Amino acid sequence: MTAQPPSTYAALAPFREYFGGGLPLLMYHKLGPRPRGVRLKGLYVGDRLFARQLRELREAGYRSCDLDAVAAGQATEPGRIGITFDDGYVNVLRYGLEPLAEQGFQAVQYVVADRIGGGNEWDLPLGEAYEPLMDHAQLREWLAAGHVIGSHTLSHARLTEVTPAQAREEIAASKKKLEDLLGVPVAHFCYPYGAWNERVRDLVIEAGYRTACTTQFGLNDAATSPFELRRIQARYRSWGLRSLRERLRA
Ligand SMILES: [Zn+2]
Repeated sequence: MTAQPPSTYAALAPFREYFGGGLPLLMYHKLGPRPRGVRLKGLYVGDRLFARQLRELREAGYRSCDLDAVAAGQATEPGRIGITFDDGYVNVLRYGLEPLAEQGFQAVQYVVADRIGGGNEWDLPLGEAYEPLMDHAQLREWLAAGHVIGSHTLSHARLTEVTPAQAREEIAASKKKLEDLLGVPVAHFCYPYGAWNERVRDLVIEAGYRTACTTQFGLNDAATSPFELRRIQARYRSWGLRSLRERLRA
């Protein structure tokens, strides 16, 4: 029987066997030093830890998955992994490009189309620090480095709580806006807050996307809908009670 892995990803060892069961997609938000007093600490992964995580995966033989192949149902090839970033933070460009290049991984960045060059206002009521989001030139730099841009709506809307017309606009207009701005197809989507339902998912399909990521924990196999992709949150190793319990169980 396969041991249950921890609920977040810090290092490969406890996931090595588990990853054999399907395609893992790692979910990152912010890279680099964590500002003092920030409450959602888990959204930051230090730059050295990020580099170590990538190096370890590469040394174990992992290579990037191609989301277009995932869309076509060809995601079951072993040894693939997806590196995903939500929101489009400048700190990912600053701290992520070099280790990604060094270890030969391609990543996808899900961008909030109406906040390009702005900040993460949606997180501030949660006690999060203000973090700048990539501007047009920085998005071009990300693409020029061989990475992918996906959509994360226009305004980081909670799609299950807005009207159907608003949800359609958030989903479809963000795709068009990013495509017009960057001149590349935007075929991949990510639900803000992981909030989705069948109605929202159908709007994503209707808008012409090929995949969509949730925040639900798990791996992806041939039976997984490409519009309900599961991910595993990457973070630093915490010594909180829960992770202690997980370590004892492992
Ligand atoms: Zn987000």
